[in-house]
Amino acid sequence: MRIKYKINGIVQGVGFRPTVYKIAKKLNLCGYVLNSSDGVIIEIEGENKERFINELKNNLPPLARIDTIEETVLRAKNYTDFQIIESKETTKTTSISPDIAVCEECLKEMFDKNNRRYLFPFINCTNCGPRYTIIKDIPYDRKNTSMAKFKMCEECYKEYTNPLDRRYHAEPTCCYDCGPELNVKCKMENGKWQELRIENGELRIKKIEVIAEKIKEGKIVAIKGLGGFHLVCDATNENAVKELRRRKQRPSKPFAMMFKNIETIKRYCKLTYNDVNLITSKEKPITLVKKQVELNGIADGIDRYGVFLPYTPIHYLLFEYIDFPIVATSANISDEPIIRDSDELIDKLGTVVDYILDNNRDIINACDDSVVQAVGDGEYITMRCARGYAPLMKNVECRMENGECKENITKHKNKKINKFSILNSQFSILGVGANQKNTISLAFKEKFILSPHIGDLGTLGSIEYFERTIDTFRRLYDFKEDVIICDKHPYYESTKWALNQNKEIYQLQHHYAHALATMFEYDLEGDYLAFIFDGTGYGDDGSIWGGEVFICNRHSYERIHYFKPFKLIGGEKAVKNPANMAVALLNDDLAKIYKNYKIAKNLSKGNFPLTSSMGRIFDMVAFLAGMIERNEWEGMSGLLIEKNYNPEIKEIVNFEINKEIDFIEMLNFAAKNKGSFELVSSVFINSLVQSIVKISDMYDLDIIVGGGVFQNKTLLTQVLKNIKNKKVYFNKNIPINDGGISAGQTAWGMWNL
Ligand SMILES: [Zn+2]
Ligand SMILES: [Zn+2]
Repeated sequence: MRIKYKINGIVQGVGFRPTVYKIAKKLNLCGYVLNSSDGVIIEIEGENKERFINELKNNLPPLARIDTIEETVLRAKNYTDFQIIESKETTKTTSISPDIAVCEECLKEMFDKNNRRYLFPFINCTNCGPRYTIIKDIPYDRKNTSMAKFKMCEECYKEYTNPLDRRYHAEPTCCYDCGPELNVKCKMENGKWQELRIENGELRIKKIEVIAEKIKEGKIVAIKGLGGFHLVCDATNENAVKELRRRKQRPSKPFAMMFKNIETIKRYCKLTYNDVNLITSKEKPITLVKKQVELNGIADGIDRYGVFLPYTPIHYLLFEYIDFPIVATSANISDEPIIRDSDELIDKLGTVVDYILDNNRDIINACDDSVVQAVGDGEYITMRCARGYAPLMKNVECRMENGECKENITKHKNKKINKFSILNSQFSILGVGANQKNTISLAFKEKFILSPHIGDLGTLGSIEYFERTIDTFRRLYDFKEDVIICDKHPYYESTKWALNQNKEIYQLQHHYAHALATMFEYDLEGDYLAFIFDGTGYGDDGSIWGGEVFICNRHSYERIHYFKPFKLIGGEKAVKNPANMAVALLNDDLAKIYKNYKIAKNLSKGNFPLTSSMGRIFDMVAFLAGMIERNEWEGMSGLLIEKNYNPEIKEIVNFEINKEIDFIEMLNFAAKNKGSFELVSSVFINSLVQSIVKISDMYDLDIIVGGGVFQNKTLLTQVLKNIKNKKVYFNKNIPINDGGISAGQTAWGMWNL
């Protein structure tokens, strides 16, 4: 008897076949393993074959993930050996692994004096290193990556072709003899850039040492990482941080910091068990955690730092010379995509940096750092899904019961075959996302894929990158969309792009897409009560929505409550400057406290769009209490309100709940208590939570919360705590903010087309 398995999931380029090989050898099994376009095919014969799948599941390589296993029992062929069979076939639908932080074994080798890769800054193996960022085309072979120009040396090739080696078929395998090289560029007095000649070139790590020295001196450097450049300086040197802010014209938006190790982070931050798990996970994301020690200029005014650990060999080598935290912020212009080559860096940020630590391994696909935050009890939210997580893949075969499709989609009915795809195989769907924090999503055959964070589509550079990402994904997955789903907002660049394609187009309401993204992540069916709070989304009535309560399911939604619409005085400018909008809504006697009283009252008669935006309500509360003058960066007022939240304060302002939720008394309260930051912040959070709980009690439905406002950890945690006897769902791996919109769009397509 012979067993044939077909395995799908993340099974290519992650050391899967060598693992299968080792287990087969260990269990004395004969047969073969083969990569095919349908997944990995394995055939085994031998006495221990029943043990095979369990052994495999228990010994999966760190990056591999099995989604489905199909098993067929066949007549014996009497194989005499176990082999890895090379296939010439392309494997376009096999998923592409995200880039992964350097692994423990590689680090051990890198710091081992006797290893041939001692201190080698590009060490990697099948369990770690670059993937998505170096791939040009499929199949995932060295010739289709930016490693193509480095011809493998004999030693490396031996490792690459040995099934028992950790570098078996690790495409970026390389060493001093055959791999990329670091180089240091410095700015001359005339502003020109030149490669720095390093004296004593025999010291292998010298270039990194030079850069470390410059950081110690207070200089600003750029360092090429996996998916782009970081701007780096000494985070404990206030002048260096100030200088970076001045040159980058970024007055107050917080910077992320990289630390040598978790112990150093603990010296500066108060970490929970949950925080530590996120920070040290194999993805090594930027994690938002509580401050303990104030470092001036890093994240002034708020109580949080974004922290992360080294994740490339270069970072580890750098921290051999320094033990203080460094600012490590994406090298880009405002919200443009992260910069991936030194020419562009010099062109755009040449006046910002003094030195560049570059290397000649090209970054093909840019990829920013991911950002996550722990919430509630062992849960987390993703604020930016990128390096380590993306491309994010989910199998979307529909669930079966007794051969019947549980999804109850008409076209599946009366089909008596054993497996369905949730999609009609003729339909390939592309969701093009929102305008801010843009991502794209694809669905085809049985797969759903979410792209890494693309960015805000506010500049030509980012729009070009958006289009390039669509092309990249079409190529990498051999994907051609039949249908495009975009937002309803006529001015979104993603919508404009979609409407210009000669394809079937559907425009989906923004906040419904948020709710769908949550239903999709948890495979939810039936009706839910969804609280979707964010800054801006185009409403069905042409006004700007953002404080929405829906009853919704996979196919439709109803707007049952919303925050009382108010005039967005100043239009788009109100996002930065909430003063007039806020004061115009106050009772006259309170409005007089504010110096813009007259202007605001006059403007309030003007013709401005109406909005129910929760983001703007946060801004107005923060402004009226005196916490902000202007909203310097996105999320600022929310983080200030969180900082000032005091759980001891139980006071509440009652919001009257009809179809409209009337919050105006909260603004009067903030004005009346101007200067009492703790009181206003706590009462505001309490009142919001109370109104959510009240509405939740009115309907016998489980809850979905979503939208950028729920990045507010205090609000989300209080909601989770106060809603009892109901399930509360929120996006965890799909971004809870607009980064999740494309996922919701694509999910709608899968369920309705
Ligand atoms: Zn490794
Ligand atoms: Zn080599």
